Amino acid sequence: MEGPVAWAVSRWGTDPYARGAWTGLLLGGTTADRAKLAAPVDERVVLAGEGVHPTSPAMVHGAYESGRTAAAHLMSTARPGQSVAVVGAGIAGLAAARLLYEHGQRVRVVEARDRIGGRIRSVDLGGVTADLGAAWLQQYPRNPLARVARALRLSTVATDFAAPLPLSSDGPVSGVDEALTALRQHAAARTADADTTVAEVLAAHRARLDPARVRVLDYAVAAAITLESGLDFTTASARGTFGEPGVGEGDRWVPAGLSRLCDALADGLDVALNHPVTGVTSDPGGVTVHGAWGRLRTDRAVLAVPLAVLPTLALDPPLPDGHAFALARIGTGQAEKVLLRYRERFWPASPGGYLWWGEDRPTWNEWADLTDGLGVPVLALIAAGDAARVLHGHRPDADVVADAHAAVLRLSRAT
Ligand SMILES: Cc1cc2nc3c(=O)[nH]c(=O)nc-3n(C[C@H](O)[C@H](O)[C@H](O)COP(=O)(O)OP(=O)(O)OC[C@H]3O[C@@H](n4cnc5c(N)ncnc54)[C@H](O)[C@@H]3O)c2cc1C
Repeated sequence: MEGPVAWAVSRWGTDPYARGAWTGLLLGGTTADRAKLAAPVDERVVLAGEGVHPTSPAMVHGAYESGRTAAAHLMSTARPGQSVAVVGAGIAGLAAARLLYEHGQRVRVVEARDRIGGRIRSVDLGGVTADLGAAWLQQYPRNPLARVARALRLSTVATDFAAPLPLSSDGPVSGVDEALTALRQHAAARTADADTTVAEVLAAHRARLDPARVRVLDYAVAAAITLESGLDFTTASARGTFGEPGVGEGDRWVPAGLSRLCDALADGLDVALNHPVTGVTSDPGGVTVHGAWGRLRTDRAVLAVPLAVLPTLALDPPLPDGHAFALARIGTGQAEKVLLRYRERFWPASPGGYLWWGEDRPTWNEWADLTDGLGVPVLALIAAGDAARVLHGHRPDADVVADAHAAVLRLSRAT
């Protein structure tokens, strides 16, 4: 079978401006920690980003809403024409900047990379567009970005995450939903009085199962839990991992690419690309944002960098104890994508557009078949946690693509 004719490989884990894919709660962490981080640091500085949204974390629309909340905090005490620096041109920073700009503030966005969008990155695959970072507008019926997508006349395609096609290299898998339900019940019972780690919940639950059910459990965990979290399970909060929302609520993806939303938000804004910020100083007179490129003096600032990046900035004064304590209880998971475009579709079609793949080796467990939405055969393969590190790590793109293609061949033969 001919290999892919176009491809793209993500590097979120080793990217210094992302340092991972999305946030999750560490042992003892709660949504109150996210809410704490969303509260203003002082009267001049406020944080924004997916990691500080208490109810829709780790998702694009949570990041968007957090940016608007950060802007609202600053506007509640703003005088007309004040200046604001927004650090980071991901969707959170752009949402904040847009709202501030529309309310008459003088806004400058400073972005480290040579592009906007952050963990939203739509790439060209030989004439079609696909997303190497976020792709789905999750919880679509109540996703505020659905309105933005409609205003831009962007078509969307539904993915039924509740109906994946489960495939594995060692034979058919059935009973995955039941295995996940039993695991969730076990986790709820085990953490009723106190939080524990995901590793501990898994070990205790596994110990009660016979080998056939352990196999299904391992498959289910790799496909559904590891993929949602990406964290090291020995430090991940079981309450958080099994309790925070994720995929599976009417999610839809955008064949034109999610970057279109960022472009629309950025329209007319003053965005300085290639401006990595290394420090932020707040004093009674204002805020100074600085980097090797120089310094920017403003009245206030929104820091919309990923939480994993925040500790790399020299903050003066440092984060208050409450914020620092909350930050220490939120981790960042690993997840990586490979996009493969082929001349023809030779893998099985999943009715919901979504496949789970299990192997007795690190693999891309979650696959989205974008063929129907794009009109050409394209697969998005996603690996998370250790598998993401092993498969992507510091390996050359060509090796990653060769491995991913080999996995596609194995999956096709497994049916
Ligand atoms: C592979 C993958 C798949 C995903 N899939 C989905 C999905 O389908 N649906 C969904 O809802 N979410 C998904 N997510 C999560 C989603 O991408 C994020 O929640 C969201 O995009 C985060 O937005 P943000 O603005 O908070 O952060 P970011 O997008 O990371 O923006 C932060 C910005 O700050 C900039 N920055 C960093 N450091 C500095 C610095 N020192 N100086 C200046 N600028 C700096 C960065 O370059 C970036 O532009 C996925 C993420 C990944 C990685």
